[in-house]
Amino acid sequence: MGHVDHGKTSLLDAIREARVAEGESGGITQHIGAYKVKIEKGEVVFLDTPGHEAFTAMRARGAKVTDIVILVVSATDGIMPQTIEAIDHAKAAAVPIIVAVNKIDLPGANPQKIRQDLANLGLQAEEWGGKTIFQDVSAKKRLNLDKLLESLLLQAEILELKANPDRPAYGTVIEAKMDPKRGAVSTVLVQAGTLKVGDAFVAGLAHGKIKALIDDTGARVEKAGPSTPVEILGIMGTPQAGDAFTVVDNEKAARDIAEKRRLIHREQSMAHQKHMTLVGLKGALSSGAAKARDLNILLKADVQGSLQALRDSLEGMATSECRVRVIHGGIGNLNESDVLLAAASDAVTLLFHTEVESRASELAEREGVEVRKYEVIYDLIEDVKAALEGLLAPEIVDVIVGKGEVKALFKIKTGVIAGSAIRDGKATRGGHIRVVRDGKAVHTGKITTLRHFKDDVKEIEKGQECGIGIEGFDAVQVGDLLEFFVKESRTRRLSQSPR
Ligand code: GDP
Repeated sequence: MGHVDHGKTSLLDAIREARVAEGESGGITQHIGAYKVKIEKGEVVFLDTPGHEAFTAMRARGAKVTDIVILVVSATDGIMPQTIEAIDHAKAAAVPIIVAVNKIDLPGANPQKIRQDLANLGLQAEEWGGKTIFQDVSAKKRLNLDKLLESLLLQAEILELKANPDRPAYGTVIEAKMDPKRGAVSTVLVQAGTLKVGDAFVAGLAHGKIKALIDDTGARVEKAGPSTPVEILGIMGTPQAGDAFTVVDNEKAARDIAEKRRLIHREQSMAHQKHMTLVGLKGALSSGAAKARDLNILLKADVQGSLQALRDSLEGMATSECRVRVIHGGIGNLNESDVLLAAASDAVTLLFHTEVESRASELAEREGVEVRKYEVIYDLIEDVKAALEGLLAPEIVDVIVGKGEVKALFKIKTGVIAGSAIRDGKATRGGHIRVVRDGKAVHTGKITTLRHFKDDVKEIEKGQECGIGIEGFDAVQVGDLLEFFVKESRTRRLSQSPR
């Protein structure tokens, strides 16, 4: 992980090439998103998903595949926003970090300064009496790559990372795709046990029997032990990255389990799984849910000063039953990576003088992550305080974000499309809509389809025309007024009178 351009891809490539150059196997013939590197002291498996988003997306699905994170920091550029994000993502997952200080071949390189700056972020170098291993490297000049690999093995020893090869295999799906020639293909990281051709398995909602195993060099193998990434053939259905993979007794058992899971999945997707909310905190605490002992908060603010002030105040707050942890604090708008982190950590997101990026807003809604916006520091602090005391009541209000008028109707197979002009603000696909006729609301629902000429669009703005499909409503008429709105939860503290 690390900031863009600090050399993640180059470092992976350098390590991979070094291995091929040594002629250990027939070269990398295909890309399976993970590969094994052999050195004298042992083997290291790299998951080729540079970027903390992929890492956290997996974690949001409940998977823990990473034992150690390598944080790549350029010795010339120093700590950047995504460096801090990466640290927070790894910390939230409780995965230890090794720092690779890259680009030490460059004249302006200052590896000591990187150690200094990271110490201020809680990563104290070993040579300075801390616990974090730092390794100076150059991906370009291939400097110290072996030392980096050795540090990884050393760390693995310290952490006592061990697995039993003599048991039915289990692991995690890292990639899944449909191959036109071979059908459903998945890459699985075996985490314990030994996976063999002929094994029956369940992977998420899919199941099957292993027809073939292919290793990271493209060679067919008969079995794969712990920490081995392999491609598997013989899956019925398509699992998703992050799904658990488990070997079971026989094919019938695999089919039965997958069948049951699909049933439960259907029921759950209707119930829509939700994450922690401020209003729900007290209930979660009294129900004894273990995860509720910490209130995790993801904080975004407009400037460093407010961020620090808020972080200090929040972290000082706690009751006998609940601690407050700010798992990530950043400057700027709430982005998708933030929402993923919040979902994976069951955190509430609090924004101070910042906005939500539109894709992040969709993701938050889909994942059921609570997003609260504040303009006054006092309000934010008071809400958290009230939540800890269970004195917070929800108040959902509709906030109008756009207006339009129906100009024409188009009949299509599945219903009626309202050809409309946007008069004000904007309309968003999936957003809420109210149809108003003669001053009265005749329908309230959601926008299912949104088209600008022939294109499906996510959003359309003032001054443009579009076709709107309204969920479960075909009785729309020319001249109807449309209101587009979002639901915002405003806080009402019980200690104060309702606003
Ligand atoms: P990523 O965005 O973190 O994956 O970074 P890349 O691997 O794409 O590298 C970004 C740029 O830094 C590229 O132009 C690389 O050639 C360069 N780069 C990467 N590692 C080194 C290094 O060790 N030394 C020097 N001088 N340049 C490097």
